[in-house]
Amino acid sequence: MTELPARRLLLVHAHPDDESINNGVTMARYAAEGVHVTLVTCTLGERGEVIPPELAHLGGAALGQHRHRELREAMRALGVHDFRLLGGAGRFSDSGMMGLPDNDDPGCFWQADVDQAAGLLLEVIREVRPQVLVTYDDNGGYGHPDHIQTHRVAMRAVGLAEEAGCPVAKVYWNRVPRSVAEQAFDRLREDLPRLPFEKAATVDDVPGVVDDQRITAAVEGTGPAAAAKAAAMRAHATQITVHEPYFALSNELAQPLFTTEYYELVRGRPSDIRESDLFAGIGATP
Ligand SMILES: [Zn+2]
Repeated sequence: MTELPARRLLLVHAHPDDESINNGVTMARYAAEGVHVTLVTCTLGERGEVIPPELAHLGGAALGQHRHRELREAMRALGVHDFRLLGGAGRFSDSGMMGLPDNDDPGCFWQADVDQAAGLLLEVIREVRPQVLVTYDDNGGYGHPDHIQTHRVAMRAVGLAEEAGCPVAKVYWNRVPRSVAEQAFDRLREDLPRLPFEKAATVDDVPGVVDDQRITAAVEGTGPAAAAKAAAMRAHATQITVHEPYFALSNELAQPLFTTEYYELVRGRPSDIRESDLFAGIGATP
């Protein structure tokens, strides 16, 4: 087996694009620092809505393939080489928005057996032995079935890894501090008349917003990491329209593109002060 770098970061996400929106700066920064960054995406987002009219014909497996290509391009922008689909491409399909009949599709991720899916993620953990794992909170950040299931599978896999003798030292959930979100939306409302977006989203549309005191880590985007994040988001052109420092999803509502990314530590020893490095307190472990 080839020797992996001393520091290893694993991110677990639901669809191609979630990684760039939530963690683009973090992934670019750590990849540039020589950390082994692994992304596991659970579905190819086959039920996502497509923004560009010229690609609107794409759906189902064809959209999944297209989004897989977008993901590759995004990973190139972030400098991340190790990215995988949970159980291989097409193993689990997009479950669609909560409450839709799509949720009952036996092949969709929402219908997956959590232990079985977590077993697949455990294989990755055993191989990569990440010290740090990043995923969503128990509501998946905003209630999408695939995001909730991603949370369940990731957290179960962390438990299985502990039992298997390859514990993950630190687990973080993606967060945005409420004060940061509110200030960013204040600026957005002022800027809106000059933007190519007609309407703005609200703080409630942003996944993972919590009171500031729950934030335990903030990873700031230096110039190159922030630029890489914007480029990675642009690569997901079926899903995202970028106009820095803002972007919109298929609902066409403008929202802030955060170049500092925030986290809540849910496993591992907390620091007295807010961390600026997800590996804080971790020595190099073999
Ligand atoms: Zn998603």
